[in-house]
Amino acid sequence: MPFRDLVGHRRLLGLLSRSIAHGSLPPSLIFSGPTGTGKYRAALATAQALNCSSPVIAESRLPDPDSRLNLPVDACGACSACSRIGRGAHPDIQTVTPGDAGSIRIEQVRDLIDAAAYRPFEGRRRVFIIDDADALVAAAQNALLKTLEEPRPGSVFILVSSMVDTLLTTVRSRCSELRFGRLTMAEVASVLMRDHGYEERDARAVAALSDGSVGRALDLRAAEHAGARQLAFEVLGVASAAGDARARLDSMKPLTGKRSGGSGGLRTDREQVALHLQALSSLLRDVSIVATGANTQLLANLDLESGLANLAKRFDGNRAVRAFTAVDRAQNALDRNVSPKIVVDWLSLQL
Ligand SMILES: [Zn+2]
Repeated sequence: MPFRDLVGHRRLLGLLSRSIAHGSLPPSLIFSGPTGTGKYRAALATAQALNCSSPVIAESRLPDPDSRLNLPVDACGACSACSRIGRGAHPDIQTVTPGDAGSIRIEQVRDLIDAAAYRPFEGRRRVFIIDDADALVAAAQNALLKTLEEPRPGSVFILVSSMVDTLLTTVRSRCSELRFGRLTMAEVASVLMRDHGYEERDARAVAALSDGSVGRALDLRAAEHAGARQLAFEVLGVASAAGDARARLDSMKPLTGKRSGGSGGLRTDREQVALHLQALSSLLRDVSIVATGANTQLLANLDLESGLANLAKRFDGNRAVRAFTAVDRAQNALDRNVSPKIVVDWLSLQL
């Protein structure tokens, strides 16, 4: 994604573009700042601007007039080099990330240092991106010092870190540091809408709690969905075992409550119930898969397989399908503005 499509950080992106245009980009860089604010994307955009086969002069396309950005050089975003860099498939761009143990080992760094000794294969500059650079073990940081101090011509190192204070001072002193700030709420919301398919209202609600980080906003959303699923799972267990109508009505009450965590506090009752119905629907689909003995690899909630198997004992194939259809009708009713409480009460008698 070229500079002009990145959100926020206007001053830094302008600075990067100008120094690339003037051939004065420092070869050893640190992109620091809070997690989830676009530092890694900016590193990729830098690699693209350095290697694009038909670079352009560009202006930011953001609608906000205050965030206009003039870029003397930007990647075209469409040529073979740009698209391969975007996919992580360009031979001159290497990214290192922490392994399973959560750290970046010295062997990983030695590979980079060796590669940095060669001229670019096909691009103009080799770019080495170390993501989560704070995960570099001390020995790996020490091994990098000489390379950061006197990089080979044609090589650029970008260390990306949200905990830059934990890097050795000897590493930091050899790099030019660009500090990425938090995004504004509007910027977070615009990324959620453009790149993650959020509706505007939803995007704004999550952005308000995101502390200026798209990453955090996405985590919140994931936590919210996990909470909704857990609640729906518990409700299904109780409702399926309930003896009479009264017990069923009571068993479904939690679906109208706000217990899902995440950004639940900013949702309306209708949105909250809709989220819970969505979770119910997904679980019931899985229950019918288990009940009919179909391939469990098809389960959307594979991690709940044993719990789903228990539910499937109470929901034979037909009951699961009937319940699934009922949830679908409940979702439609909710969309047609029927009161959330009436929808949930009705649903409780259908399961
Ligand atoms: Zn290009």
